[in-house]
Order: sequence, then structure tokens, then C-alpha cells
Amino acid sequence: MIETVNRLLFRHHDADVVYECRECGTSVDSVDDECPSCGRTDVATFVTE
Ligand SMILES: [Zn+2]
Repeated sequence: MIETVNRLLFRHHDADVVYECRECGTSVDSVDDECPSCGRTDVATFVTE
């Protein structure tokens, strides 16, 4: 039971999604956000492992 939960948590952690402004590279919270630095809404999505 506990082992199953840990495995799910690890899997979630392994597949972090990062959103980053295509214009200046600033990290944003979601793909729908606009960049706090330059105001662009063109956000790139990266999945890190
Ligand atoms: Zn930007």
C-alpha cells in the first residue's frame, strides 16, 4: 500500500512540466500565463525527467 503511493509520487516527480517564455526564457506558472518579464503569451512547455 505505502509502496504503491511512493511509486506514484516518484513517477509524478520524475515528469516535471516546466513552462517557459519563448521570448526571454522566464519561467511561468502555466501555459496560459503571460510572461511577467516581457508580457508575451507565447509559452513553451518542457517535460523534464
Ligand atoms: Zn518573456
